[in-house]
Formats: sequence, C-alpha cells, structure tokens
Amino acid sequence: MIKRTSKDKNHPFVLVDKGFLNNNKLSLKAKGLLTLMLSHPDDWSFYMENISEMSSDGKASHVSAMKNLIEQGYIEKQQARTGGKFCGVIYTVIENPKSNNKIISPEEYLASCITNSGNITLTRMKKDICNYGEDAFAEKAKCLTYKSFLKTAYWRIIVNFIHKKHNNTCQICKAKGKPMAVHHKKYDNHGYEHLHVEDLTLLCKDCHRVVHEK
Ligand SMILES: [Zn+2]
Ligand SMILES: [Zn+2]
Repeated sequence: MIKRTSKDKNHPFVLVDKGFLNNNKLSLKAKGLLTLMLSHPDDWSFYMENISEMSSDGKASHVSAMKNLIEQGYIEKQQARTGGKFCGVIYTVIENPKSNNKIISPEEYLASCITNSGNITLTRMKKDICNYGEDAFAEKAKCLTYKSFLKTAYWRIIVNFIHKKHNNTCQICKAKGKPMAVHHKKYDNHGYEHLHVEDLTLLCKDCHRVVHEK
C-alpha cells in the first residue's frame, strides 16, 4: 500500500507520462534521473554539471544514466552556441519518444540556424541574431518598433513554433482553422522569446481582440 500526501500548491506534485516507468530497457538510475528532470519547468536549461549535483551518485553514475536515456530516445543532446561560438552541451528531455512529433523548439532552431546555411530564412536569421549575439539581439529587438519586430525572421520562427505547439487551436475558445495570432501574455522577456515561449499563447483573431479590449 501507499500512504500518499495531499497535493496542492503547498505540496507540489509532478505529473509525468507513466510510459518510461514501464520501459525495461531503462535502469532504475535512468528512471530516477528522468523523473527529476521532468520535475523542472519546460524551459529549463539542463547542463551536465548541474544535473550531476542534484543527487549523491557522483558524476560517472549520472553520465551512464544519461547515456541510457539518450539511447532510449528520452534525451536529445545539442551543442549550445552564442554568437556562433560553442558554449557547452544542452539537453532536451522528450517525455514520450514514441509520440515525439519532432516540433523543434525555437531555441533548438536558433542553434541549428547557426551551423546551417543556405536559405533565405537562415541567412536572415543569421543577420537578425548571430551577428549581434543573443543579448545584443534582445537589445535590438527592444529598439525596433513592434511592427518591425513582427517582420523579423526571428519572430516568424517563434510564431511557427507556437502554432505547432498549440496545434493551430485558439487557447481560449478552442477554435481551429480560424486566423490566429500569437499573443504575448507579458513583455518582460522581449527579445528572448525563444527562451520564454511560455510567455506566448495562440489566440484566434476574435479572442485576441477581446483580450486586448479588456
Ligand atoms: Zn478564440
Ligand atoms: Zn496580443
């Protein structure tokens, strides 16, 4: 039997897909580490140094658990870059690899833009962000009129991501297939939207107007 505690805002809980717990190709260690990682907010940046400090097993043990998770598709490894310079390895958690519909986050997209080249979006993206560096881009975004900001390749990529994330569905009235708008719930992270996609939501044009008229 299990003696459970009540779960409310004073006793926070984690809701996870049970699938990985039944995966017998994962070690206990890997299941523990994945649970720990899934208890973080969606936009959390995982670095090996921080991960291995979360438990008492030591770095080698964390590295082997991580290897197990990568092999089984629960973790994706990516090189993080700022202004074209390599600045460490970043890990993305995929809660259910079978249902991973390969929506890449704007953050991953930005990272891939830096290594690839060739089409207009990527070239413009380079111009928008990479030549300035991430922080400089955020400063630049603040100086742009909002109308000009909406025309940047950067914003187009974020818009695309938010549409996919919400499956083209209005987050208020749940309408699908109507003209949609990406709405900023707050502007605190303007210029860093790719790191704060939770600040954004997808609304149909009608709900969007109502929100702004409030
Ligand atoms: Zn709506
Ligand atoms: Zn809005």
